[in-house]
Amino acid sequence: MNRLSHAIWRRLTGLMPGELKESEMAWLVWPRRHLPLVTRRRATVIVNRVRLFAFLFAVLTPLWSAVDFVVFPFPLWMNLAMMRFAATAAFAGLLVYYRPTGNLFDAYRAMALLFLIPTVFYVASHNMLTTYQLTGMSAAIGAGYAFLPFVLLAGLSIFPLTLLESLMISSPILLAQGISGYLRWSAMDWPSFAGAFWLLVLITGVSTLAGTSQLAFMLVLVRQAIRDPLTGVFSRRSGEEVMELQFNNATRHEAPMAVAFFDIDHFKSINDKYGHEAGDKVLSVMTATVGANLRRGDTLARWGGEEFVLIMPNTDLQQAEAAVQRLRNVGLGRRPDDTPVTASIGIAERHADGTDEWKKLVDLADQRMYHAKQTGRNRVVSGDD
Ligand code: GH3
Ligand code: MG
Ligand code: MG
Repeated sequence: MNRLSHAIWRRLTGLMPGELKESEMAWLVWPRRHLPLVTRRRATVIVNRVRLFAFLFAVLTPLWSAVDFVVFPFPLWMNLAMMRFAATAAFAGLLVYYRPTGNLFDAYRAMALLFLIPTVFYVASHNMLTTYQLTGMSAAIGAGYAFLPFVLLAGLSIFPLTLLESLMISSPILLAQGISGYLRWSAMDWPSFAGAFWLLVLITGVSTLAGTSQLAFMLVLVRQAIRDPLTGVFSRRSGEEVMELQFNNATRHEAPMAVAFFDIDHFKSINDKYGHEAGDKVLSVMTATVGANLRRGDTLARWGGEEFVLIMPNTDLQQAEAAVQRLRNVGLGRRPDDTPVTASIGIAERHADGTDEWKKLVDLADQRMYHAKQTGRNRVVSGDD
């Protein structure tokens, strides 16, 4: 049984776009363990798409009034036009006042508002239309108003969402549709309601799949963009982004934060004696070893050729010294001549050094690394004496 489900799982994951790793599959289900960088970009994409949708709706909603004008009696047209005006104003407000902040909850709120406006419009217009006995063309256009939930659920497909998020957004719409059917059940044509409801469920399924595969694509691209190709650790640019994020966080919460600057000792001689490939190998073994021994929340970034920065949030100076010592005890790998790889390391910490900017923190750690080089290499310097 277990083997069967494993086999099915393997098949399914093999069908997913662009080499998403098995460990990354959970990221498609819920957003809890997404990297902060992924969350930030996703929040930005979501808000930008909300704004695109809001723009389209703000333009199309009033335009449709012309159609209403032709087919509906005047009082109905007038009432609908006022509702359309209110909806347009709401969409325009969303477009004007909502800008991406990189915060996921802001993005959720933007999506909720985007879906709320047409839902309110739908309920109000639906109630109004049912009080009129429409025939012929006007009945056809009136029936068109019932398509709004379909548009909403199909629109869900433009957002890079996890499975759970898609369900959270679509289930209220499906539920509302189900309840409204239940309330009208005596006067209703059941087969056509059931058919329409089933179609809504299918559209939800397709939109969810579209959203999830967008997310998968995004996760792969972000991984490629933020990682250094040789070692797989964060590139310098992403390291800087992480550092800024963590530093602001630490400042807000008055929390400690440490960085360690590593520079491998006599690295050039490996290249000179054994070739560039051997040097590359030492780099990837070292990052794999350090990476396997990092605590959750710590980030390793390749700052330059054989220079690395370890970012340690919520870590005071003593804890940082202990963490670095632990890494040194585990070792950084072996050189081609089988002697241990060593590094000169500088540590700086936000509180202990009284820094108010992440750049200064890295500069300090860099200077101390240099000091460690000058005083004999293979050592850690964490203060200014
Ligand atoms: P020190 O102990 O003073 O740090 O000496 P070092 O030889 O490590 O320092 P130096 O900065 O002179 O040399 C760094 C070398 O790292 C120079 C460069 O050729 C090499 N390097 C930079 N990036 C890569 C890389 O991606 N692969 C390989 N194989 N070598 C690299
Ligand atoms: Mg160097
Ligand atoms: Mg070096």
